[in-house]
Amino acid sequence: MAYKILTIEPKKKIALIAHDNKKDDILEWARYNQPVLAQHELYATGTTGRLLETELNLPINKLQSGPLGGDQQIGARIVDGAIDFVIFFWDALESQPHDPDVKALLRLAVVWNIPTACNRATADFMISSPIMGIAYERLLPDYTEYRKLRRGREDI
Ligand code: PGA
Repeated sequence: MAYKILTIEPKKKIALIAHDNKKDDILEWARYNQPVLAQHELYATGTTGRLLETELNLPINKLQSGPLGGDQQIGARIVDGAIDFVIFFWDALESQPHDPDVKALLRLAVVWNIPTACNRATADFMISSPIMGIAYERLLPDYTEYRKLRRGREDI
């Protein structure tokens, strides 16, 4: 498989999202990691963003609330290269009205090889990684062949 390299800059564009039952968790985690988060550019879904802004006293680019399309906005930004790091504390014990959006976001994070933490332990490991503060060459499968294949199907 051929790969391309997309560089994640030292100042990362981090998306923060938490379902309602996980909001206390993300607030506690973010408070502890405030000095590291302050070195990056932060994005969040609406409610999570408002809570974090107060908690961290840091500017947060707030998108729509998750159920109103915020997860999809984050997914679209991943595709556009405008978000390169995701902390997503999703609730594994309750279904959400926007479950398809959650799945779509997680899928795009895999397609574009985006570091993604879905629980606190992973988030701890990611944020304390030695490559957190430097540029990182993100390998991305070269989708050129895949696109050609898709184009071949346009006649069907
Ligand atoms: P919220 O959305 O931050 O607006 O609560 C999060 C989500 O449910 O995806």
